[in-house]
Amino acid sequence: MAKKIQSVKGTRDLLPPATRRWAAVEEIAREVFGSYGYGEIRTPLLEHTELFVRSVGEATDIVGKEMYSFDDRKGRSLTLRPEGTAGIARAFVQHAMGSSGLPIKLFCIGPQFRYERPQRGRYRQFHQIDAELIGDPGPTSDAELLLMLVRFLERLGFDELTVLLNTVGDEASRGAYREALVDFLEPLRDRLSGDSRRRLESNPLRILDSKVPVEQELLEAAPRLDDYLNRESGDHFEAVRRALDGCGVAYRIEPRLVRGLDYYSRTVFEIVAEGLGSQDAIVGGGRYDGLIEELGGPAVPAIGFAIGQDRLIDILPEAFDAGCSAEPPVHLVAAGEVDPVALLELGEELRTAGLAVETEVGGRSVKAALKRADKAGARWMVLAGEDELGRGEVALRDLALGEQIQVSRETAIAKIKEKE
Ligand code: AMP
Repeated sequence: MAKKIQSVKGTRDLLPPATRRWAAVEEIAREVFGSYGYGEIRTPLLEHTELFVRSVGEATDIVGKEMYSFDDRKGRSLTLRPEGTAGIARAFVQHAMGSSGLPIKLFCIGPQFRYERPQRGRYRQFHQIDAELIGDPGPTSDAELLLMLVRFLERLGFDELTVLLNTVGDEASRGAYREALVDFLEPLRDRLSGDSRRRLESNPLRILDSKVPVEQELLEAAPRLDDYLNRESGDHFEAVRRALDGCGVAYRIEPRLVRGLDYYSRTVFEIVAEGLGSQDAIVGGGRYDGLIEELGGPAVPAIGFAIGQDRLIDILPEAFDAGCSAEPPVHLVAAGEVDPVALLELGEELRTAGLAVETEVGGRSVKAALKRADKAGARWMVLAGEDELGRGEVALRDLALGEQIQVSRETAIAKIKEKE
């Protein structure tokens, strides 16, 4: 026997019926985001490697060690996208999307790729639902984006998720803070992990994200970013909080939240959920006022978030499934020798009337077909014999009650629909 080929490590097949949840979540995202004026964008999975180097940042884990990059046949370095914002920002610049007025609001649903160590909730191909609001610098935009995010999660049935919120200030505030943080950490260098020591040079703010207990303890005494905020950054954050308070959005200030990517400025946020183990972040986002310019576009501010769809689906409240489970189809089976075309035509007639139909095309016996329908949890079976087909009739079997009646096709359709 030929050797079986397995899926690539860190990737998953999403199979029915689980895919129903995925589709239902995406449908709700389209509906909710649409109601806030967001349009769907689909960017390529492949981009020039330089896009991520320039936007996400050379010193980040993503660019440093997690990208699926390769040279194509002409020697160009391409990368499977590791996150959504960079590609959306590139598309915004490439199509001069701001020329007909700002802000532009976009969302994107699809797979991302990172070469990480796979574990529960962490995959090498995972999926994100991204939303980006491009072209407005004001705190009201930050608040509305967060409001939309919270409403979306509420629509899925989550009611106890809290937004973790912080500001990383603008570039001026961050520069002053970076210096103070390095001054504080430099004398403690020997007690830092290898990763943090490297970050001390390349990206010191990321050390605040450390999950190493010793470092977390050391950081207790570290200078706080909010002491270094200049007036504009402080006012912006204050206004975001006021708007969220006013709209009743629950949040908690998390002074050490900095997020992993280089392009963030001012507002940053995350949502973490219980029951996911160590990979508990389900949403990350923030403002990225310098990114579009960095990619050769105009100086246009923006803010966005990425929801980890795999993790989100993992913890959907139970009630969600009830809302997205469909009626199992009607099973249509030939009783005895029947012209297969007539059977297919009958299936089409039932579908035209709005029913979902599973036609037994394999010539199974009625007994075997019954067993299969039962296993599938079907309520109805339509049996069609050669004579009945000629008379425009069928035998309709109610599998729940074990009753069978001989009726016209129209009556069968009406009866099924009546009890649906
Ligand atoms: P990030 O783009 O790193 O800010 O991630 C945003 C969200 O995407 C996270 O909160 C996670 O829910 C999800 N995510 C990131 N990386 C992975 C991964 N390797 N596997 C599954 N989900 C991920």
